[in-house]
Amino acid sequence: MPNHYLSRRVTNVKPSGIRKFFDIASTMKDVISLGIGEPDFTTPEPILRAGIRALENGETHYTSNLGILPLRKALSAHLEALYGVSYDPETEIVITVGGSEALNLAALALLDPGDEVLIPTPCFVSYQAAVISAGGVAVELPSRLENNFDIDPEEFRKAITPRTKAMLIGFPNNPTGAVATRESLLEIAKIAEEHDLLVLSDEIYDRLVYGFQHVCFPSLPGMRQRSLLLGGFSKDYAMTGWRIGYACGPAEIIKGLLGVHQYMVMCASTVSQYAALEALQHGEPFVQQMVAEYDRRRKLLVNGFNQIGLPTFEPKGAFYAFPHVAVTGLDDETFSTRLLEEEHVAVVPGNAFGLGGEGFVRTCYATSYDQLEDALERIERFINRI
Ligand code: PMP
Repeated sequence: MPNHYLSRRVTNVKPSGIRKFFDIASTMKDVISLGIGEPDFTTPEPILRAGIRALENGETHYTSNLGILPLRKALSAHLEALYGVSYDPETEIVITVGGSEALNLAALALLDPGDEVLIPTPCFVSYQAAVISAGGVAVELPSRLENNFDIDPEEFRKAITPRTKAMLIGFPNNPTGAVATRESLLEIAKIAEEHDLLVLSDEIYDRLVYGFQHVCFPSLPGMRQRSLLLGGFSKDYAMTGWRIGYACGPAEIIKGLLGVHQYMVMCASTVSQYAALEALQHGEPFVQQMVAEYDRRRKLLVNGFNQIGLPTFEPKGAFYAFPHVAVTGLDDETFSTRLLEEEHVAVVPGNAFGLGGEGFVRTCYATSYDQLEDALERIERFINRI
């Protein structure tokens, strides 16, 4: 029974299925964790230095609620150069405490009680939580292996009701590693226009793509005015602990987000903002190096899974592979629990990520090549035994 003082906003949100495995794993020795979704790389040196320099220069104060202007300008130029989508740094960008804050700001600023948000799943566990804790209704739409876990526009069409307000999509995807094709995103754009919906597009893994050109949703015709781009520095620049991200969108919507942000956090961490500025200005070679290394590991893991009898589609983005474990006769929860207990390899059951995740497990390859080789050996031994 939850404590009676707690609000329904909180008790309606179920605990994250990722944490549970993480907590068990942390009590064991010799565990190889493919469970947690964060880069194993330390933040690249010049970015670290920029943070240290900012402190030495006395940058220890609040910034503007929106974030420092040089960072907003650099982000605007970055998005324009990469995707041809332009945001006014003065009014259309807010720097947040990670992509997580951007997501929650969006939910709080946009949803009235009962407003429905369509979410293709499996998806990042915070999507449903953000919508529900803001009073909205998270409507899960399953993506499927047959379709490489791309968006299924038909599922969206079927799910629309008079209460539908927005769609929340996240590609490259956590947990599947799927990317969304331009064709499916154009369909989403069409649906958004037909039904006057807003699209929240979480593109935090935008730079982590392998042989695929990322499509930035707001860059599609007519979409800049009806979408909110959510992003951050955690994944692309290995900066999870700095807690720095952003939301970009039409000025009136960003003003709405600011209405929550200014009272909740005032501004993102000042030192992190300076580090993020450096990341945008000089981080590119490091992004390229990390992507090349992730790609090497991705191939090892995906080929390895397929060879040992766990069918795995080729993920073209993020740093996750999503093997189908139901073929072993175990459901994803049992598979993950036993694999952890018997072989000390931590993965996350696919059901933690919503409809469509059952029967799969999320494995993160943001860990060293050697560890991945070792994990594959252990998983093979486990499968042979069961
Ligand atoms: N979106 C997705 C899809 C994620 O996987 C994560 C982190 N796991 C986030 C947003 C939030 O990241 P952060 O708050 O570190 O920017």
